[in-house]
Amino acid sequence: MEKRTLKRALAALCAVCVLPFSGCAEKKAETTFLAMDTVMSVSVYGENAREAADACRAEAERLEKLLSVTDGNSEIYAVNNAGGAPVSVSAETAELLEKALELCQRTAGALDVTVYPLVRAWGFTTGEYRVPDESELAALLENVDHSRVSVENGEVTLPAGMELDLGAVAKGYTADRLAEILSGMGVESALLNLGHNIHLIGSKPDGSDWVIAVQSPDGGGYAGTLAVSACAVVTSGGYERFFTDENGETHHHIIDPATGQSAASGIISATIVGKSGLVCDALSTAVYVMGAEKAVSLWRESSDFEMLLIGADGGITVTAGIAEAFTPTDTDADITVVTR
Ligand code: AMP
Ligand code: MG
Repeated sequence: MEKRTLKRALAALCAVCVLPFSGCAEKKAETTFLAMDTVMSVSVYGENAREAADACRAEAERLEKLLSVTDGNSEIYAVNNAGGAPVSVSAETAELLEKALELCQRTAGALDVTVYPLVRAWGFTTGEYRVPDESELAALLENVDHSRVSVENGEVTLPAGMELDLGAVAKGYTADRLAEILSGMGVESALLNLGHNIHLIGSKPDGSDWVIAVQSPDGGGYAGTLAVSACAVVTSGGYERFFTDENGETHHHIIDPATGQSAASGIISATIVGKSGLVCDALSTAVYVMGAEKAVSLWRESSDFEMLLIGADGGITVTAGIAEAFTPTDTDADITVVTR
């Protein structure tokens, strides 16, 4: 046999040999779509790849309609516009809101799902940016307090003047739902990319870890990579949406509910890794607001997440559970590994 032909024959044989071990993992379907103001893309491997990817898209579009703060038909919109009256919501919305409120409490209000009046005042809902003055912020802050939201017997009551915004957790919840659907369809390997919310189902089809890039907050390239499987990887950063005012000051979309201003905790990128997309999404926003010191305390008393923080000074803080999985782009980077 000629050398080249032999090589081809061997390659064909190998392909046949590999298939039984990986099932039909070579089958892959991808779908990219816009939902929740985000370009989402879903890559699914395995027998049901196509149907599963399409089901993900349908589910993300359903959740967008349910949770949108601007869609006049959404349940959140109905609650926000009820003038303080109780509103009946679906069991799903009630449960999500309850979990989100628990996370607001757990983060001592660094996450606050009633922050919407502030987000709007700064123009982040429309892109018509402006800088509210102190008195305007003080008045709006009167209406920001997650502890005044009640969810009881399928009814949500929000005091008049307050508004809910699930923007900080909606994509994480969506990722969890897509993961549930995929698991129900027997999918064992998939990568969900919902903007800065990555959700990994199993490992890569060849059994190795997925390698996820952690974006560099200064805009150029990657701060490093994380080699992980079967988890959510969620990043919050002020660099995602911001504007510069006439005095050259930058303001971004993550608001500190204590001040009404863009969070300025010294962290410029917070990546959370864990099993629950919802928890990781909530904590990425909250940790960005609370700063490294409080975030490390929270991590020490928790067991459901790991984190990687990038400080304004370029320093990287990584918790022990993902320290090995992280490879920095800059081998001279100043890295602190936090242990329990
Ligand atoms: P994320 O990208 O997950 O960090 O979420 C940021 C989005 O959540 C913003 O665009 C706002 O809609 C909303 N948001 C901003 N600050 C907060 C906060 N402190 N708590 C809850 N939601 C917030
Ligand atoms: Mg978030």
